[in-house]
Amino acid sequence: MAEYEMVIGLEVHCQLATKTKLFCGCATDGFGAVANTRVCPVCTGQPGVLPVLNKRAVELAFQAALALDCKLADVSIFARKNYFYPDLPKAYQISQYEQPFSQHGRLECRLKDGAAKVVRIHRIHLEEDAGKLLHAIGSEELDHSLVDFNRGGTPLIEIVSEPDIRVSDEAYAYLTALREVLIYSGASRCDLEKGEMRCDANISVRLKGAEKFGTRAEIKNLNSFKNVKDALEYEFRRQVEIVESGGKVVQETRLWNAEKMATFSMRSKEEAHDYRYFPDPDLVPLEAKPAWVAALKAGLPELPAARRARLTSEFRLSSYDAEVLTSKKEVADSFLETMKLLAPEDAKALANLMLNTADFSPIDAPRMAELVTLTRRVITVNKAKELYPELRASGKSPKTLVEEKGLAQVSDEGQLREWVKAALAANPQAAADLRGGKERAIGSIVGAVMKLSKGKANPGLVNKLIKEAVNAGA
Ligand SMILES: [Zn+2]
Repeated sequence: MAEYEMVIGLEVHCQLATKTKLFCGCATDGFGAVANTRVCPVCTGQPGVLPVLNKRAVELAFQAALALDCKLADVSIFARKNYFYPDLPKAYQISQYEQPFSQHGRLECRLKDGAAKVVRIHRIHLEEDAGKLLHAIGSEELDHSLVDFNRGGTPLIEIVSEPDIRVSDEAYAYLTALREVLIYSGASRCDLEKGEMRCDANISVRLKGAEKFGTRAEIKNLNSFKNVKDALEYEFRRQVEIVESGGKVVQETRLWNAEKMATFSMRSKEEAHDYRYFPDPDLVPLEAKPAWVAALKAGLPELPAARRARLTSEFRLSSYDAEVLTSKKEVADSFLETMKLLAPEDAKALANLMLNTADFSPIDAPRMAELVTLTRRVITVNKAKELYPELRASGKSPKTLVEEKGLAQVSDEGQLREWVKAALAANPQAAADLRGGKERAIGSIVGAVMKLSKGKANPGLVNKLIKEAVNAGA
């Protein structure tokens, strides 16, 4: 196995974040809705209707391509991809074939060890989604399939990578980076559970150092990034075993079965579709005027890589913190909004709070800033984390909550001295160690004071007062 490598190219379909479908006014919110309630004569292919291109879909598709450093075509052509299947009412899908709207992009991905890997984008094209078949096979009452056209005609982009990926971890990193960029650019929400991002993988194997590609298999039905990784690992072993035993890998489409953790042959090249592509006579060529493209480019939001760089340089966060903060756009947005209300030196405290609070999801910037300000003097960071779920749920201000719950940190030196005295008396061994110069012993005395104060003692002051007490011979 170690002598071989994988050659992987990925084809990713992403749903564009439009309100309506690609060629009609039907809503795109049909996921989970009653079947066939988001349909009209256009997206169900009734005779005599004409498609009208959704301008917003084109804008979002171009935004995605710009965010992926693609070259945009001045003119692209819609083509009919002909095949007969019940999920396709017109018996053709409107797609782009010979002249896609964009080509030759690149995406930098970050691997687990922190290294960067560039995967080139071969092309991106616009197309409409098909409907969804619901198979009732094996059911007592039904022995047939049903079709739901809610999804039919939904705008998609298909992003085809060059075969630059060599190990399954790189495929995972590529998909993660792609999803981030598409979400940041606003082109797609990439909700995997709603099928808004779907991936097919082409994989072949060859001896390391060989230039020629082996025969590839296309793997479908990969509905999570983990499935992609598992399927590639399985397929690598399968193909190497064939080659090693003197056989030949067959060019075919295979389906991933996540339960059996294996791929199964779906159709071979001989049975492959001949789609008979031709330009759609109902749609004019799509022209991208330079001024329009320039405006789209200018309006592109800050992308993940630029944002990570800014978080480390401008706010002096570690690259790890920057990485985790930017992995969710809404969290990074909230961080930057909140920092507008805080001093630069609060950046670390804010990042800590966001990254170490379980199930963190952002609240409004003013309350977030107030909470961070409170951790300077009034409450400990741990208390702030504990408070967070209630803060989010109640809509109250952090100050109000702290007052209501009596959480304010105790900084009254008289009270603190009493607790210090009691803590020293209750822990004679640690107290003796501390007097003997073992500074680490202070930890257990601080702990005892925090316990006495129910977590409310100001830890900085407690430290200072313990040292004072010990020096004074207590
Ligand atoms: Zn429609």
